[in-house]
Amino acid sequence: MPVPPHAQVTVRAPAKINLGLSVGPPRPDGFHPLATVYQAVALYDDVTATLREDDADVTVEVLGDFADDVPTDDSNLAVRAARLLQSEYDVEEGVDLTIRKTIPVAGGMAGGSTDAAATLVACNRLWGLQLSQSDLERLAADLGSDVPFCLVGHTALGRGRGEQVTEVLSRGTFHWVFAIADGGLSTPAVFKELDRLRPLRRVEAPEVRPELLSALLSGQPAALAVALSNDMQDAALSLRPELAATLQFGLDQGALAAMISGSGPTCLFLAADSRSAVDLAVELSESGLCRMVRQAEGPVPGARILPAPISR
Ligand code: ATP
Repeated sequence: MPVPPHAQVTVRAPAKINLGLSVGPPRPDGFHPLATVYQAVALYDDVTATLREDDADVTVEVLGDFADDVPTDDSNLAVRAARLLQSEYDVEEGVDLTIRKTIPVAGGMAGGSTDAAATLVACNRLWGLQLSQSDLERLAADLGSDVPFCLVGHTALGRGRGEQVTEVLSRGTFHWVFAIADGGLSTPAVFKELDRLRPLRRVEAPEVRPELLSALLSGQPAALAVALSNDMQDAALSLRPELAATLQFGLDQGALAAMISGSGPTCLFLAADSRSAVDLAVELSESGLCRMVRQAEGPVPGARILPAPISR
């Protein structure tokens, strides 16, 4: 039976990478202050929200490459996003969520956060809430540090825990290759390792490197390659030392830069152009060093409603 308009909404939401990730000393509340430059890349999860008119239940089904690694109970970030909207706006209807995952789970690419962002956008439309982008961004910040950026997308500066986002000017398109490792890394565990590795060092307030912002403005991959940085890399490598060989392999194959993505264990590589990205992806796939390889351009927009399929 065809579904009536707005009884079903699909939202496509991107993965993020951190082009610069500067981590300050832990705050009394345990969070680390960050200064980061995010970029949204064309690796997406699709979240379909289908209306439940007869009750207020929220269910979730997860499909795709990483489905087995994603919880389907109330700890799923998409479920939490739907429940937050229900409680804040006294919504009496429910929703069945289907997540088609292509973003690695616990891979340092904000997969869960982007599902939460997609769910906010989908349920806002499904339940006719008419919330503004700034309303959604406020709710997003309650759900997690990376969720506001996943709504906004493109390239942006993240402050606070990463949840205070402002757009950054970036020219052109960059070509990225991702080596997705077996297993994930828990973000809190990597922060803990970072604190263990630098307990006595005077840790400065987090800062974005000016050369990173000028590289983005120039649109030149070679300039961006030398401006990338990630304070969490040493901690991720300390927990997963074998990733160093993956990073080195990518550099040996001509990547302009190689870095751990966020808290890892995904390794990211900047290629000079789309052709070099394909070549690098092939070499990495054949190397046996990782579980799978993906290529994606950035920047791309944040969570967006997809046009409804045309039904006959
Ligand atoms: P970040 O880069 O934001 O630190 P990440 O990419 O490393 O996050 P996620 O893929 O968001 O990690 O997953 C972290 C944990 O969150 C997973 O181990 C999983 O148990 C849980 N989780 C909850 N909801 C989801 C979801 N919708 N998709 C993926 N993981 C989820």
